[in-house]
Amino acid sequence: ANTSTEQLRQSTCPYCGVGCGVDISCNVNGRVVSLDKICGTPEHPANHGRLCVKGTNLLETNSLGGRLLHPTIAGEKVEWDTATRLIADKITQTVAQYGADAVAFYVSGQLLTEDYYIANKLMKGFIGSANIDTNSRLCMSSAVAAYKRAFGEDVVPCQYTDLESTELLVLTGSNTAWAHPVLFQRIQRAKLRNPNMKVVVLDPRKTETCTLADLHLPLKPGTDVAVFNGLLNFAHTNGSIDANRVHTFADGLDDAVAAANDMDIDSVSQYSDVNANDLLTFYRWFCDAERVITFYSMGINQSAFGVDKANAIINCHLALEQIGREGAGPFSITGQPNAMGGREVGGLANMLSAHRDIENPKHRDSVKSFWNAPHICEHQGLKAVDLFDAMASGKVKFVWIMGTNPVVSMPHREQVENALRRCETVVVSDIVNKNDTLDFAHIALPATGWSEKDGMVTNSERRMSRQRGILPPPKEARHDWQIMCDVAKKMGFEDAFDYSHPYQIFDEFARLTAYENDDEKLLNLAALVGMTQQEYDNFSPVQWPLERRSDGSVQTIRPFTSLTFPTDNGKAKCIAVTPQLPQQVTTASFPFVLNSGRSRDHWHTMTRTGKAAKLHAHMPHASVSMHPMDAQALQLSSKAYVSLSSEVSGETPCIFPVSIDEGIRRGELFIPIHWSGVWGSHSKLAKLYAPATDAISGQPELKHAAVNVVPT
Ligand code: SF4
Repeated sequence: ANTSTEQLRQSTCPYCGVGCGVDISCNVNGRVVSLDKICGTPEHPANHGRLCVKGTNLLETNSLGGRLLHPTIAGEKVEWDTATRLIADKITQTVAQYGADAVAFYVSGQLLTEDYYIANKLMKGFIGSANIDTNSRLCMSSAVAAYKRAFGEDVVPCQYTDLESTELLVLTGSNTAWAHPVLFQRIQRAKLRNPNMKVVVLDPRKTETCTLADLHLPLKPGTDVAVFNGLLNFAHTNGSIDANRVHTFADGLDDAVAAANDMDIDSVSQYSDVNANDLLTFYRWFCDAERVITFYSMGINQSAFGVDKANAIINCHLALEQIGREGAGPFSITGQPNAMGGREVGGLANMLSAHRDIENPKHRDSVKSFWNAPHICEHQGLKAVDLFDAMASGKVKFVWIMGTNPVVSMPHREQVENALRRCETVVVSDIVNKNDTLDFAHIALPATGWSEKDGMVTNSERRMSRQRGILPPPKEARHDWQIMCDVAKKMGFEDAFDYSHPYQIFDEFARLTAYENDDEKLLNLAALVGMTQQEYDNFSPVQWPLERRSDGSVQTIRPFTSLTFPTDNGKAKCIAVTPQLPQQVTTASFPFVLNSGRSRDHWHTMTRTGKAAKLHAHMPHASVSMHPMDAQALQLSSKAYVSLSSEVSGETPCIFPVSIDEGIRRGELFIPIHWSGVWGSHSKLAKLYAPATDAISGQPELKHAAVNVVPT
């Protein structure tokens, strides 16, 4: 007799940093047999039941077709024991022969917090290097650095409800309608409910997000610092800043204002190519509003001056006291589902776990003693672009890449390919059996994916939610944390990596956040320590900072309400910044500015969304968008193909069909990031980008290449 029943399981969408909860109707017959229907979780605070088209079609992407299901060495199937033994031996030998810094991990915002924690513990405490960086370097590392400069800790000061209660919402460097659609829906609804709410969009392109804009400022790419310095200068000269009050909670105001004092409206207009009256309107709205949110994403972060851009925004919020209360603050939005969780456990080469600093000897000692670690990294590791350069130059001999496809996503593809060719051992853990990075793997490891793995993710508003393992791991696929623990044990670290369930890893991480936390870091999860496996399994979404009330309940506190900050003197810091132009500048040979970003229905390199037929309907292929007058000057119709080249693109042409778009500024181009490698052998977008990076954050300038366009 058929004894199957339908049961509800809850998890979190694995795509963007909104972190929507999903309800999945499962067919259960002794165990979960299939995932049948999906919808948004009504009670999840990130989405209240909403999903975008990617989340709605998640189950279409979850088949086993194209999955990596067995470990391989040099393309031959092997037992897990053989693969992990070889990896352990290779790491041990590399460290012995060349030192710990010859070993590197390059991981991903797709990893769950527990995976990320183990990767960082193994590398930073037991191998003894900080050479673990992540694709989140490409996503939000500039936002992290700016928060640390301004607040002393990487703390996003806002939450999604602020988008609904603000009076003025400034969206800058973000095509929210396509990149974070559920937040866009929330903003649409907020604006319907409150017709007085104003939306300003700063973007060189007229995107779908502009449908909601009361004012669109199509600024010249890279001129954000000038626009926000202009705002600071305007606020200062018009008496909108109460400097005496600001001095009580923030240092550096006078220097920041002085650095902006040449940015009057006309100068900003000239510099940014934005109409002076529109600038004036924006500045007046910002200075007059009771509550302002500035919501920013990759257009700010993916820049050679991304940290300064973010600090220019934060300066305005500090100077005008638009922070620490409902509906007010600078609000960076992450691209990936667990970029924030990665930050929490130290998932960048310049951080230690639990928001501790590598440069701080007290923090190093604290983490070392908590882990009972034999070695603790003594200095920062190499950030993504430098890491691949170090492989190319032979300094890094071993790399383990987990859950990411750097050959496609990193700038200067030729150099990344050279790096992987030169590296003596390349290990790749992934769920797919074919992508551009796997082509370089000596050892390939099948990892579990969404719906199979258990763990925590933290979304853009610091809210931790559970991704749940509903289906069993297929064939020989294993969880990333299990694979790493197996390797660690084979390296001789049995006790430190002896976990049987991810709840034990999360508990250890929560204890570490509270351990010797006497400098009052806001990331303190003491209230979550001691969860049982059942409590972890049933975990309801929660935002940090947390405090436990006298009645035992756990309460979220809004950061910075008392305008005290986790710095030595408790004050925030305004940073004096000056506008600087992008590093990849146009020349007579490369006269066009190339911008890139997400399309609405696809995710990253399409290894998952590419499986769902419905997700191809909106945009069936990549194209290069250009202004009609540029197309006319090149005698191009919308059916034409063009070849793109840049100073670093090498000999093979990058060929794209043309799409005529009146929303693009003249002299500028836009290409979506998803089609590359296995999806379009001639459309290798990353080849066109030079490896220019922000000097502080190391984040690559992926919004501003200088290219030439030739009709084919
Ligand atoms: Fe939500 Fe982002 Fe997933 Fe869409 S892709 S359902 S907005 S988490």
